[in-house]
Amino acid sequence: MNKFAIVSRKDEISEIISKKLTASLIKNKWINDNKNPELIFCIGGDGTFLHAVHQYLEIINRCSFLAIHTGTLGFFTDYTAEELNLCIQDVLTKKAKIRSVPLLEIEYDDQKYFAVNEMRIENVIQTQLLDVYIDGVYLETFRGTGMCVCTQLGSTAYNRSLKGAVIEEGLDLLQMHEITGIHHQKYRSLGVPYILKPERVIEFQSNSFEGAFLCYDQKHIPLGKKSKIKVKLSDNTIRFAKYREINYVERLKDLY
Ligand code: NAP
Repeated sequence: MNKFAIVSRKDEISEIISKKLTASLIKNKWINDNKNPELIFCIGGDGTFLHAVHQYLEIINRCSFLAIHTGTLGFFTDYTAEELNLCIQDVLTKKAKIRSVPLLEIEYDDQKYFAVNEMRIENVIQTQLLDVYIDGVYLETFRGTGMCVCTQLGSTAYNRSLKGAVIEEGLDLLQMHEITGIHHQKYRSLGVPYILKPERVIEFQSNSFEGAFLCYDQKHIPLGKKSKIKVKLSDNTIRFAKYREINYVERLKDLY
């Protein structure tokens, strides 16, 4: 592994780290290849990592990621800016363990979309009706702003703001959670997070998605007339190049 690319947040510290890293790698005969990198360094925060994954989706199964956080530790990042020299030393002298984690795969209108953290159906204009099916079995009709389906990685992101459960590293599960559901005598739905087996397929159907958006990580598309959205864990995975292990509890503690 010696072809690299860098995806950096456009702030001063991230740019300085990026330049130092590039110089050190090139000095050690690594090749800067932005088209077909084997190792992609993400410098910034967890948000920068999300951008990098979407940028390199086409080669996702043959490249690996290593992230340096220029703030606190983060969930996708293994080194902080202060640990740049240690990071460079590890990359140059150690063999990385690869940890593969599945992406979320969303099917809508014959198109596939992929997410690291989550997908959301959100309608802030009007009450969104959603018929929810799990593996083809009708579960409920939901009424409210929308639904969020997250991965283990995304359980600490938007899902956590919804008061969803944090899912520990190593458990590749799905979590479905309502976004401001309507619950009263006439309408009710599950109302609490539902953690699902990795092989489950969730389907949302509605007669109207008018005013609704499909949000996936930092991206979104307006929903049109098509009435079905399928969500599952993908065979496409993100490959994390692990040069050191950080206890998940340490990452979690750093979050709040
Ligand atoms: P962004 O600025 O890239 O990210 C928003 C915040 O979420 C940042 O502080 C980011 O951390 C953090 N974050 C991203 N993924 C995370 C994860 N897996 N665990 C813990 N924190 C995480 O914003 P964006 O580009 O609009 O959206 C990207 C993601 O932000 C979405 O996937 C969504 O999960 C999250 N988001 C959350 C809320 C909310 O909680 N209400 C609202 C909008 C978006 P860094 O500071 O390290 O980059």
